Amino acid sequence: MSLVVVGTMAFDAIETPFGKSDKIIGGAATYIAWCASNFTPVKQISVVGGDFPEEELQALADRQVDLEAVQIKKDEKSFFWSGKYHMDMNTRDTLDTQLNVLANFQPVVPDSYQDCEFLMLGNLVPAVQRSVITQLKNRPRLIVMDTMNFWMEVAMDELKATIAMVDVLMVNDSEARQLSGDYSLVRAAATIMQMGPKYVIIKKGEHGALLFHENKVFFAPALPLEEVFDPTGAGDTFAGGFIGHLARTKDISFENMKTAIIIGSAMASYCVEKFGTQRLRELSKEDIANRLSDFVQLVNFDIKLY
Ligand code: AMP
Repeated sequence: MSLVVVGTMAFDAIETPFGKSDKIIGGAATYIAWCASNFTPVKQISVVGGDFPEEELQALADRQVDLEAVQIKKDEKSFFWSGKYHMDMNTRDTLDTQLNVLANFQPVVPDSYQDCEFLMLGNLVPAVQRSVITQLKNRPRLIVMDTMNFWMEVAMDELKATIAMVDVLMVNDSEARQLSGDYSLVRAAATIMQMGPKYVIIKKGEHGALLFHENKVFFAPALPLEEVFDPTGAGDTFAGGFIGHLARTKDISFENMKTAIIIGSAMASYCVEKFGTQRLRELSKEDIANRLSDFVQLVNFDIKLY
């Protein structure tokens, strides 16, 4: 039984009000794998070009990330994304998206991935996300999907067809509004749940995340940090912590999902402390435990009910 992750592995160029990076390693599935592998082994599905460093793949393999389904297109270039953050570090503009190897990506799910119990569809072409679901002979116990405004703009129908097949959809607040056409996040979540997913997670950057299910809602704050260096990958890291915890505990109850979004938030708070995946690579089990206890302190209070 296993966790399968699909998504981009990429080069990013990032500009924040405080600094600028050259081309660094990024991609939704890269962040998810670095994070989720703290909790459970990962089987990765992605595509890279001949320009993607061998050491990067090796570093993931060293963390029990199975790369059998990561295609390497020797004569092509890896996916490239560039973004610029506004002063609030919560909003950003995409400066450039070069699909490169992603343009003709056809994932192949190997036999060794057919034991998939938890499927994390990281941000990717919606039709490609769907093709992974349909190649699995048995439906996973839980399918979690992340997406972004880019796909709402270029492939809304495809996106809705994929959303209809998943259990949990994760989007940020502006994407939830764009997808539902509703400003109220409560109504937006209800509309999205009618599209198929039984659970909706709405990420609000430094303002935390909301988990909706039926008529229930749970809120997890983001840890107030003195310095946010680079928010790129925070959403993917959150996703990796969320599904990594569920896959480790094999418990998909609403109660356990509450713990999972706290773990996702704790991991995301580490991600933003340095550029790219750098901070995630350094984390020890002790760091993770310390940050979780910071979260417990942050939200723990006793109140007398009248
Ligand atoms: P996040 O900050 O969590 O939204 O994720 C940022 C990561 O998503 C970056 O490392 C990018 O390489 C990747 N990314 C950006 N645009 C796309 C896209 N259209 N499809 C898939 N991945 C993307």
